[in-house]
Amino acid sequence: MITPSVTELVTTLSGDELPAYVYDLTALAAHAQAVRAALPPAVELYYAAKANPAPRVLAALAPYVTGYEVASGGELEHVRDAVPGQPLAFGGPGKTETELRRALKLGVERFHVESEHELRLLAEIAGAGSHTADVLLRVNLPLGEEELGGAALAMGGRPSPFGLDPDRLERCLGHFTADGRLRLRGIHAHLASGLDAPAQTAVAGRVAAWARELSDRHGLAPTEVNVGGGMGVDYARPDHRFDWAAYGAGLADVARDNPGLTLRTEPGRALTAYCGWYVTEVLDLKHSGGEAFAVLRGGTHHLRTPVTKQHDQPFRVLPDDRWDRSWPRPAVAGERVTLVGQLCTPKDVLARRVPMDTLRVGDRIAFALAGAYAWNISHHDFLMHPHPGFHYLGG
Ligand SMILES: *Cc1c(COP(=O)(O)O)cnc(C)c1O
Repeated sequence: MITPSVTELVTTLSGDELPAYVYDLTALAAHAQAVRAALPPAVELYYAAKANPAPRVLAALAPYVTGYEVASGGELEHVRDAVPGQPLAFGGPGKTETELRRALKLGVERFHVESEHELRLLAEIAGAGSHTADVLLRVNLPLGEEELGGAALAMGGRPSPFGLDPDRLERCLGHFTADGRLRLRGIHAHLASGLDAPAQTAVAGRVAAWARELSDRHGLAPTEVNVGGGMGVDYARPDHRFDWAAYGAGLADVARDNPGLTLRTEPGRALTAYCGWYVTEVLDLKHSGGEAFAVLRGGTHHLRTPVTKQHDQPFRVLPDDRWDRSWPRPAVAGERVTLVGQLCTPKDVLARRVPMDTLRVGDRIAFALAGAYAWNISHHDFLMHPHPGFHYLGG
């Protein structure tokens, strides 16, 4: 799972150069290319920038994606600067008037509208500036057990601050008048995350069918359905990946059942999680109450993912044989070890009670699946430890 170029770099870094985030852009490009190839050519692939908005990551994805989904004015400016000229879709709840004005001025390709109030605001601002806003209405569609089967996080299908309930969405249709300020381009949905390919396909089919019924009922021609992101990343099986081939085949069926519809998907995590590693070293090893703890340089203030998702972050031990102290090297062998960081809180745990063959002070640890919702969701400045180094390989 860890690529040779990452391992090689890690051996060259000194202790003080750790922790470090290492991104393998060659591996990222290969993965994105495979994802693109697995989808039917007509299906558009947007990358949800909030998963990892590092400029080099955004740029490495550019050859393989149709555009980028941004969820704030900050992301809008950032992504536009990092990958100029790429199509942008502006989503997310609570867009401010200033953000909408700026997005209209920049000519974003699509507005994912979350409420009737937001739609009115957009219409007013667009009208005042003689702009046209191309809109996808975000629907909060109830999902059945079949669709929601293994969802880690449901965004829709239950009371939710995201999108519009179907009846409320229907009431918004009257705002798309002939004056052309607002153009209804279709429907957007992002209903769950952590789904496997069969569940994602079921969700896509359900959203597309609902969108078609809506347009049939109102004599409209919404031609686009964005079926969202949320493709599962299995942190317990880091070598296992979302079945893009099965999803691609499923989307081909959905397209066949809904002729004339443009399908779009906007994954974040499942595109970038695999390309990033958070690499550090064991600073201390100790026992307490019969349990072993390894204290690592850094912690969840750099890699918050295991705290937010309540999982053990998968990792590889990279043994380092250097030891020049005058006392015996602290080590554990054949026992369970809990990996913690340097923060003065019991919540600073990266992995719990993991069986370990051997682990010594000074060995290096490379946490996998740290390319999405990792550095950028972490509270970097809590306790004022130095920030990690950042290394981009290839690309
Ligand atoms: C976060 C988000 C995504 C991406 O979700 P992942 O789980 O990272 O694939 C896509 N669309 C919307 C609207 C989102 O909020």
